[in-house]
Amino acid sequence: MKVKILGTAAAEGWPALFCRCPACQRARKLGGKNIRTRSSLLIGKEYKVDFPPDTYLHLTKFNLSLSEVKYLFITHAHYDHYTPRDLLMRRNPFALTPLPLLKIYGNSLVEKWTFSVRDFKENIAKYSFEFQLVEPFKEFQAGELSVFPLLANHDPNQLCYNYLFSTPRWSLLQAFDTGWYSEETWERLRKITSRRPLDLVIMDCTMGKIDTDKKGGHLGVKGVIEVKKKLSSYGSLKDGCRFIATHFSHNGGLSHQELEEVLSPEGIEVAFDGMEIEL
Ligand SMILES: [Zn+2]
Ligand SMILES: [Zn+2]
Ligand SMILES: [Zn+2]
Repeated sequence: MKVKILGTAAAEGWPALFCRCPACQRARKLGGKNIRTRSSLLIGKEYKVDFPPDTYLHLTKFNLSLSEVKYLFITHAHYDHYTPRDLLMRRNPFALTPLPLLKIYGNSLVEKWTFSVRDFKENIAKYSFEFQLVEPFKEFQAGELSVFPLLANHDPNQLCYNYLFSTPRWSLLQAFDTGWYSEETWERLRKITSRRPLDLVIMDCTMGKIDTDKKGGHLGVKGVIEVKKKLSSYGSLKDGCRFIATHFSHNGGLSHQELEEVLSPEGIEVAFDGMEIEL
């Protein structure tokens, strides 16, 4: 199955919407892999992680259509990961061809955001989607994927998820936004990956060269390296597992090439918008 990383930036995008700091100016000048949009992931044709404000840009840039997506996993209710109003485009006359039912998964705040759009509360049938509340560490099935929601350490005001997706053939840990995991998450991760070692990890590196010192919120280069070491010590990574850093902020300061210079020696790849991985 093909995994496509649609966006690789933190909330502000990189270059950031209203910023002319040296990191943003450099990204504008260098272009290419230094231009980063808000984070999302497409797994095969039917599974998507997050619904950021850049979704329409992703579709046009990569020549995709979302009409086949049946399962949408929302990590948390931050604006750069979930913009429910774009779901209004699922109804006639904005979508003229029939759509399969879309199942949207998320926490209680994601549910609240969804149904704060009045027409979703009153006329949900028109939009062909339904919402399912996700509970921490309670595995569920979505099509052919088993989905294990791990608790991230990101925002104390809501349950933020990192999803571990697996089939009998492969396992993928998606971790767009997280700080250093709690002991409980580490233990759950250790247990589940002992049965299903990981083929692919996509991990928060928002803070770049800023050391976040194993706190909550976000990781940087140092944190990502530490996470990889810890997972290796558990035996969680399959031989040949690809470990990819993503969700970069201009605050982290490092260009794509500079990120590669610090992460490649550690066996960590640097994501870019449009990156594809075959599982
Ligand atoms: Zn984010
Ligand atoms: Zn900036
Ligand atoms: Zn966030």
